[in-house]
Amino acid sequence: MKHSEYNKKNSKSRKGWSRLPLKVKLIGFFLLFAFLLLIFLWLFQIVFLDDFYKLIKTYQLKTSTSYISQNVEEERIDELIESIHTGNGMSVAVYDTDSDFFSLIYESRADRDMGLDIMPHQAYSYYNAAKESGGKITLESESFTEAFFGEGGAFREDFRGEPPKMDREASKILVCAQITENSEGEYLIVLKTRITPVTSTVDTLRIQLVIITALLVVFAVVFAIGVSSKISKPIAKTNEGAKELARQNYHVHFEAEGCKEICELSETLNVAASELSTVDNLRRELIANISHDLRTPLTMISGYAEVMRDIPGENTPENLQVVIDESRRLSELVTDLLDLSKLEAQNVPLNIEAFCLTDCIREIFTRYAKLISQQNFVLEFASDEDVWVSGDKLRLSQVIYNLINNAINYAGDDKTVIVRQIVNDDKVRIEVEDHGKGIDKEDLQYIWDRYYRVDKEHRSAVIGSGLGLSIVKNVLLLHKARFGVRSALGKGSTFWFELEASEVRSLKGSL
Ligand code: ADP
Repeated sequence: MKHSEYNKKNSKSRKGWSRLPLKVKLIGFFLLFAFLLLIFLWLFQIVFLDDFYKLIKTYQLKTSTSYISQNVEEERIDELIESIHTGNGMSVAVYDTDSDFFSLIYESRADRDMGLDIMPHQAYSYYNAAKESGGKITLESESFTEAFFGEGGAFREDFRGEPPKMDREASKILVCAQITENSEGEYLIVLKTRITPVTSTVDTLRIQLVIITALLVVFAVVFAIGVSSKISKPIAKTNEGAKELARQNYHVHFEAEGCKEICELSETLNVAASELSTVDNLRRELIANISHDLRTPLTMISGYAEVMRDIPGENTPENLQVVIDESRRLSELVTDLLDLSKLEAQNVPLNIEAFCLTDCIREIFTRYAKLISQQNFVLEFASDEDVWVSGDKLRLSQVIYNLINNAINYAGDDKTVIVRQIVNDDKVRIEVEDHGKGIDKEDLQYIWDRYYRVDKEHRSAVIGSGLGLSIVKNVLLLHKARFGVRSALGKGSTFWFELEASEVRSLKGSL
């Protein structure tokens, strides 16, 4: 499906909110945030302020009463009462209730606020009420102003007109009385405080909040526009680049700008673009390589077959051998391709078994006997032990075979290939060394890729498809083996891999 078609289809399937531009979404989020903030502010500062205030005052009154009750027999109780009186704005009275008459034993200094005076008759009624409710009561009583001006106020009809707005309009008196008994006798402790309504504070806050609301909305919109354009600009730019990439323009460059995530995305896209470009190049090379590699043996086969058909006496075993060899090459190439695609799709079931790796290498060496005798190659195998490993014997032989094949293909003038088996602790390391032209540092990272060839023109006695090392890599990865290569230009290369050794039997000698 074409990129533009995909985009259209996808954007159609996205609905409502998800189709909105980032800017609109951000404004929405900021407004929502401001809205929630304001709701909380209104709730706590306006609606519940009175209740919170009352709650705190009641708690303060109760704890002060308990504290005095605990210390009522202490010598400096009058000082404590005075400090609670001045510190908390509470009037305090302590009565001795053991005597027949209620006798006042401590009292805080007289207050200007007469509503806080504790009269003996009031104390007596608090005492009775406290007795009934288990020794402690908290009461909320109407203040004088409330009785005077409040709804249905007792004295209201005596005066004409609308009563003035009073600061202490709906103020209430909060009383806490506690009976406390101890070794000396029984006491009544009474504390009174005024709950001043916070109406004027609330009015002030309300006006402030209206201004804050207006400011917040304006700031939210301005801020959202600013932030969104800062965020969305690099995203839009990256998106344009990504569209270019989708159009197979792999030379597009993504600028790392904006926030960390977008910078990382740009960097990832740059890597993706370069990878795609490499893959694209490799794909082109593959077609060139494969067609070349297929054409060469095919030409040979058809050429030799025609010669044998048309020219009498040319139907020799040597010519037939060429046809057979070339057919084998073709078949190997196709097998390699199939193997690699299976390995890369990860659907090769590994046939894990314990086998002697050393023997396996020796077997591979026997295949090169002809090469050694006819082309003067020197193949050495250095090993001190017989080592058993557990793995897929067939696949691992393929790895060793591919590495030796490459070493022969790219061997230097000395035509020497050395295979070393090194046992270290419970690990066995196989090294395949040649003294050929080596591999450039820049090419080293690519040689494990499919179809990669350093020297595109290089053709050797043994056919190379550019797949050998890729197969090696995939098999070793499936075995979770470590592998790598050391190479120096002009000096040669050493390819190696390491496997867990399951058994090691020592023997001195080399093949
Ligand atoms: P090929 O079939 O072309 O050898 P490989 O995947 O086996 O494909 O190797 C990839 C490339 O790595 C080769 O084309 C070659 O350029 C380089 N290479 C592999 N082995 C050696 C080696 N021993 N010495 C030098 N270059 C090598």
